[in-house]
Amino acid sequence: MWKRFRLEIEMSCIFCKIAAGEIPSATVYEDETFRVILDLNPASEGHALILPKSHAADVTELNEEIAAKVLPLATRVGQSMKANLGCAGFNLVQNNGEAAGQTVRHFHMHVIPRYEGGPVIAAWEPGTSTPEGLAETAAKIQAGL
Ligand SMILES: [Zn+2]
Repeated sequence: MWKRFRLEIEMSCIFCKIAAGEIPSATVYEDETFRVILDLNPASEGHALILPKSHAADVTELNEEIAAKVLPLATRVGQSMKANLGCAGFNLVQNNGEAAGQTVRHFHMHVIPRYEGGPVIAAWEPGTSTPEGLAETAAKIQAGL
């Protein structure tokens, strides 16, 4: 039952289809585990998405072996952007869940080149904290680790 449900998700998942090459994309890198494509609605020139070829809805479902390969690959992509696109830096952005801004439920890492003079995008307004509040929140997270 679960396997059949998983298969239905994967058959309807647009990033599974793109990663498998069933839907064309501007591919910048491919190996047996990943396909790296350019975002159709880029935040800046060269905005890329790292897609694992196996389906995982978000980082909580991602196989640890694959997860361990994402950051080194993102680093290589970012370094190539700096060397070949002339960007001054890059952001790695990875959203998990609709509340976090994830629009496609297939794990993906954004690699977003940042150019001198371009907008610096921070997705939050810096808030305030108290030592007591931080300690209370830290204890809640620690309880699950
Ligand atoms: Zn998928």
